[in-house]
Amino acid sequence: MSDRIVYQTDVVIVGAGNAAMCAAISASEKGANVIVLEKSPEKEKGGNTTYTHGSIRFAFDGVEDLKEIMPDLTPEEMEGSDFGTYTDEQFYDDMCRLTEYRTDAELASQLTSESFSTMKWLHSHRVRFVPIYGRQAFKVDGKFKFWGGMIVESVGGGHGLVDVLHQEAERLGTSVLFDAMATEIIRDDDGVHGVIFKHKGITKEIHAKSVILASGGFHANTEMRTRYLGPKWDIAKVRGSRFNTGDGIQMALTIGAMPHGNYSGAHAVGGDVNAPEFAEGFQKLSYPFGIIVNAEGKRFVDEGADFRNYTYAKYGRAVLEQTGQFAWQVYDQKITHLLREEYKNRQVTKVTANTLEELAEKLDGVNPEAFLKTIKAYNESIETDIPFNPTEKDGRCTRDLDVPKSNWANTLDEGPFEAYGVTCGITFTYGGLKINTKSEVQDVLAQTIPGLYASGEIVGGLFYFNYPGGAGLMAGSVYGKIAGENAARFAKREVT
Ligand SMILES: Cc1cc2nc3c(=O)[nH]c(=O)nc-3n(C[C@H](O)[C@H](O)[C@H](O)COP(=O)(O)OP(=O)(O)OC[C@H]3O[C@@H](n4cnc5c(N)ncnc54)[C@H](O)[C@@H]3O)c2cc1C
Repeated sequence: MSDRIVYQTDVVIVGAGNAAMCAAISASEKGANVIVLEKSPEKEKGGNTTYTHGSIRFAFDGVEDLKEIMPDLTPEEMEGSDFGTYTDEQFYDDMCRLTEYRTDAELASQLTSESFSTMKWLHSHRVRFVPIYGRQAFKVDGKFKFWGGMIVESVGGGHGLVDVLHQEAERLGTSVLFDAMATEIIRDDDGVHGVIFKHKGITKEIHAKSVILASGGFHANTEMRTRYLGPKWDIAKVRGSRFNTGDGIQMALTIGAMPHGNYSGAHAVGGDVNAPEFAEGFQKLSYPFGIIVNAEGKRFVDEGADFRNYTYAKYGRAVLEQTGQFAWQVYDQKITHLLREEYKNRQVTKVTANTLEELAEKLDGVNPEAFLKTIKAYNESIETDIPFNPTEKDGRCTRDLDVPKSNWANTLDEGPFEAYGVTCGITFTYGGLKINTKSEVQDVLAQTIPGLYASGEIVGGLFYFNYPGGAGLMAGSVYGKIAGENAARFAKREVT
């Protein structure tokens, strides 16, 4: 007989990021006793969620909808902003288009159609939102015009979001154990009954009527990255939490859960080439307004294929595939005032030069002659009679280049020039567990595993190849809320 310490609860949740804490709030709201196990120490709580700006994508029909989740919007803010609309259909279309029509249609439809009601639910639980004037809008004729289908962020960014969700869950009675790493799901033929975990190094058990896995993906696990994503992913930088090492996925697969989704795919962006292995503030995302060149001095992606938040998640992989896994983003004086805040970081790999010839010599690792040839061909190919307009896909494109630039093509001819060295940084992984619309984990026989639920990054099937910015938090909130409700009902045997 084991002399382990044993806890009892209705619902145990693994992880304490956005998905987990939404699940905790929702299960507590339904009257369940909830214990959350979080692998990290308290001071690092919140997983990948704390690394975000709190930008969240949801469908809305106009400013009246926005007032419901941002009642503090002033008349001046409403008058001075063109928020537009972003319908459920647009969100769903974006999910389909960006994933090359591979997204799980049922889950994507649920995600988009429940996104606004989930925003209202978050707001009812004290999460506060504000418009993203700085990063998602440009001022046009004195008015902020928003672009890219994403317009709000949580107050205080990811840290603010995590703090509010934790406070709210605790207010509703949830307990959180930190330094508590789940290692095994307790399962028999009737379903799951809790988890085994290491709490400050001591193995303990928690017996529960339902278990929710919300422990993220495997971006911080070098071995799993290489195994699933392939060669070179071992040397990618890591943008997010060092604790997301695929534990929940591995525990669930061990008990027969169905793997699902794009295991060879990940969200990864371009960011500072000299960043440490775990890199905060890493990304460099103004590339739609400049060009990116590789060691051969050549462009290799359409920098202006779409708004930044529809391309950034796949361009990290494109950089990883280049010789030496690096590239340089190049801008001239016409554009540098549009560069995002992260370009002003102190620790940034940047070179400046008054002429293109001088710049060519300064781009470490790049063939200078080939670079100058690329710039000449690029400058000569631009349809300069189409006006440049950063607030919309302006169609100012190149003609007859092997690698086109479809929008925002500006000649590079006004010094001083600036160039930024970038490499690939992984944000999170796309492959995970198969769930149904109740967030119930499915097994390899396509049956529900009784009592087992999942939400957040650990869920597979939503994102393939690419990702619309802000959808990660939304998916975690929608499926966290659903998982919490259903896990609580299951615990009380309101459903079987
Ligand atoms: C730099 C960066 C910026 C981003 N910006 C945005 C953005 O603006 N908008 C957006 O929508 N998305 C953004 N994302 C993606 C977003 O962070 C994720 O989609 C989302 O936060 C995932 O939430 P989650 O709850 O599933 O995982 P997480 O928030 O990562 O939480 C998982 C938790 O599980 C814990 N855990 C892991 N293993 C165990 C274990 N064995 N036992 C116990 N606990 C465990 C981890 O410590 C972690 O706290 C960004 C990500 C990064 C890295």
